[in-house]
Amino acid sequence: MKYTFKTFSCGAGDCIFFVIKDEDHTISIMVDCGQYKPEIGDFIENELGGKIDYLIATHIDNDHIDGLVTMLRQNKEISIKHILYNCYQRITGNFCDWSEQMKENVKNIYCELPVVVDMINQNINEKKAVTLAECILENESWAKVWQREYITDESSPIILDHNMGKIVFLSPSNDALDKLDVKYRKLFWQNLYKQKIEDFKKEETIYEALMRIAELNEMEETEEYISSKEINRTTLKRYAEEPLLKMSENNVASIAFVWEYQNHKVLFMGDADPSQVATAIRKNYPNEEKPILFDLIKVSHHGSAHSTSKELIKVADSEMYFFTGGSGKAPSLQTLGRIITTDLPDDVQYREIRYNKPNKLLKKLVELSDEEKDMLNFKIKKSENSYEVSC
Ligand SMILES: [Zn+2]
Repeated sequence: MKYTFKTFSCGAGDCIFFVIKDEDHTISIMVDCGQYKPEIGDFIENELGGKIDYLIATHIDNDHIDGLVTMLRQNKEISIKHILYNCYQRITGNFCDWSEQMKENVKNIYCELPVVVDMINQNINEKKAVTLAECILENESWAKVWQREYITDESSPIILDHNMGKIVFLSPSNDALDKLDVKYRKLFWQNLYKQKIEDFKKEETIYEALMRIAELNEMEETEEYISSKEINRTTLKRYAEEPLLKMSENNVASIAFVWEYQNHKVLFMGDADPSQVATAIRKNYPNEEKPILFDLIKVSHHGSAHSTSKELIKVADSEMYFFTGGSGKAPSLQTLGRIITTDLPDDVQYREIRYNKPNKLLKKLVELSDEEKDMLNFKIKKSENSYEVSC
């Protein structure tokens, strides 16, 4: 058996495929898509035969969802077996129709969503703002496979078919989802001009639209722009010590999970909160020596300053760190500092850093001499977006 971890560069956001194969079977997991690029479509078509076993949208943020909206709008034929996406998940209850006034208000909300332009079919004029929830619900075969129960750190693991390992969920906590619910009720009141008492038909669409627009208007606490600093052990150590800033409520509600098979483990952080994940790892693997050595860690939140803590590295470390997406400020000196300057676990000689969106700081790391990199026990590879392991 072997697995391939593959990322696509798609702007600031994430787009990750995890494909497990043996001689007879393939299981494919797609995690997020910030921007749908033709090469992503080619990969699904040619490498996966148009089939995705698990589509996971980690959380409601535009840089994780916009591309999924485009993908589902343009490829109605994609076969998806399971959809894991925490939106407004209600299993039972009476669902009310939208009143005319509500329809009007929702239409206005939709106008604020980023437009999806159908580039592949050259329909430049066909701009349409839609939600991922709507794309899924409109297609009967996808609607059927959208898991209605919320994914949380208390969800049962998913045992993959053909003895291909399991998925263990580490985030979000129920508390994080409750906070989003409070935020939603407030947004509902503000934008729809009525108190949310009952549940509505297709309320998922309203929920996602309101949450995504709120994100557009929210700015996370700003991080100091530090790419002009000289990179050496002292600066890395200094920034590693900086306190963590608060993460947005949407990010704290991000799904994070481990794929595990025998002694192999891969950590998918999404944009999750490091203390939540550290706690969940301690709870799920109480008897394993810490840090647990993962085959690979997909670093949280594009490597921003507040998304990787020393506490997390003490329980979860790896020889292979993947950064996906990002901006001028992410990956950050704080997160890179924490990863690079933490003492190496026994039997580990170095840590390797891979990324798919360069920024000034990463370029500086690449430009360090081999000797300097050796002294800091790290390697760095640019544009190496794929990693394959035989198990
Ligand atoms: Zn993100």
